[in-house]
Amino acid sequence: MNADDLRTRAAALDEQHAATDLRDRFDLPDGVVYLDGNSLGALPRGVAERVRDVVEREWGRDLIASWNTHDWWDAPLRVGDRVGRLVGAAPGQVVVGESTSVRLHQALHAAAAMRPRRRTVLTDPGSFPTDLYMVDAVAAQVGWTVEHVVPQDVPGRLAGTDDVAAVLLSHVDYRVGRLWDMAGITRAAHDAGALAVWDLCHTAGAVPVGLDEHGVDLAVGCTYKYLNGGPGSPAYLYVARRHQESFANVLAGWQGHADPFAMSPGYRPATGISRARVGTTPMLSLLALEAALDAFDGVEVADVRARSLSLTAFLRKCVEALVPDVEIASPHEDARRGSQVALRHPDAYGVTQALIARGVVGDFRSPDVVRLGVAAPYLTHAQMLTAALELAAVLAGGEQHDERWAARSTVT
Ligand SMILES: *Cc1c(COP(=O)(O)O)cnc(C)c1O
Repeated sequence: MNADDLRTRAAALDEQHAATDLRDRFDLPDGVVYLDGNSLGALPRGVAERVRDVVEREWGRDLIASWNTHDWWDAPLRVGDRVGRLVGAAPGQVVVGESTSVRLHQALHAAAAMRPRRRTVLTDPGSFPTDLYMVDAVAAQVGWTVEHVVPQDVPGRLAGTDDVAAVLLSHVDYRVGRLWDMAGITRAAHDAGALAVWDLCHTAGAVPVGLDEHGVDLAVGCTYKYLNGGPGSPAYLYVARRHQESFANVLAGWQGHADPFAMSPGYRPATGISRARVGTTPMLSLLALEAALDAFDGVEVADVRARSLSLTAFLRKCVEALVPDVEIASPHEDARRGSQVALRHPDAYGVTQALIARGVVGDFRSPDVVRLGVAAPYLTHAQMLTAALELAAVLAGGEQHDERWAARSTVT
C-alpha cells in the first residue's frame, strides 16, 4: 500500500473504532503524536482542577481534618480498588502507594516468607533493571539463588521440581513489548508449589490482566504509564485475598499496623490488604491519580485492548509499507504483543530524537530500540500513519545523524 491507500485505510479504521476514541478525555498539545504513554501517560482532563481543589480547599482550608472529612486516610485502598478493577482484582486486594521498586521488595520478601524452605527464585534476564536489582537484593537477604530463565522456558524449568519459591516476571516486556502467558505460567508455578509474582507496569490500563481469574499470588505495577497518574504517581501492590493473612510486610510501617492511632510500641499487622501499607502516601499524587482514573470510567480494558491491537497492527503495516528496511522487534501476532511497536535501528537514539523534533514522541531504550508506545484511548490510526511518514522522512534525510543528538540527555 502507498501513503494514499494507507490514509484511506486509516480513516476507515478510525471510523470503525470511533466508540473507543477517548481523546476528549485528555489534554494533549496540538500537533504532537504522543507515543510515550507507556512511560508517562498523558494528562487526563479534570486532573489539574482536582489537584487545585485538593491543594486550596482540602489542604489549604480544611487542613488536617481532611484526613477524616475527605477520607485521605483510606485513599490508598479506595484508589487501590479502582486500579483493581482495571487489572481484574476484586475489591480489597490492591493498595496504592510507594514506588514499584518498593512494592517489588515487599512482594518478594512476602513470597520468601510464604515458601520458607525453598531456595530458588526465577526471573527473566531481560526484565526492567529495577526488577532485576530488587530480586538480587532480596535474594541476598533471604538466601535465595536467582535463576535467569526466559519466560517461555519457565514452565519447562518448573516441571517436576520443588525448589522454586517464586517466579517474578513482567506481563509485558518493557523493551519490545512481548506479552507473556500469565495464565499458563501462573499455573505452571502453582503446579510446582511456587508463587507467581507479576509486574504489570506495561499492561495495567492497556491489556486485560485477570489477576483473580488466573489465581496470581502477588502483583505490582506503576500508575504513571497507561494509567496516566502523572509523573511519579504511586505504585500498587496486589495481594490475593487467600494470602493476606500470611502476608509478612518486610516494611512494617505504622500505616500497616492494626491500630495505627493506638501508637503502640510493638508492630501488630492490620488484617486485609491494609497490612501492606507502609508510610504516608504523597497525597497530592495519589489524589491526582484518583482523578486521572476517571478517564477509564465506563471503559472496559478489553475495549481499550481491541483498539490498541488495531492501532499497533496498523502502525506495523505503515512501517512495513513506508520504511521496509526498518526491523520491527515487537511480535507480529496479536496474542503475543503488548501495546507498543518497537523498532530496531543502529542509530536508535538519533532516530528517536529526530522523530521527537518532528512531533512524534517515542523513546529510546538501550542499545538499539526506538520504542513507540501506543496508549490507545488517546491515539488514532491517522496518527500511526503520521508516525510512519515522519520516520520515513527522518531516515530519508539522515536526520538521525544530526549533531544535536550526539550527546544523550539524562532521560532517554
Ligand atoms: C516503569 C517500570 C518500573 C518503575 O519502577 P519505579 O520504582 O516505579 O520507578 C519498574 N518495573 C517495570 C517493569 C517498569 O516498566
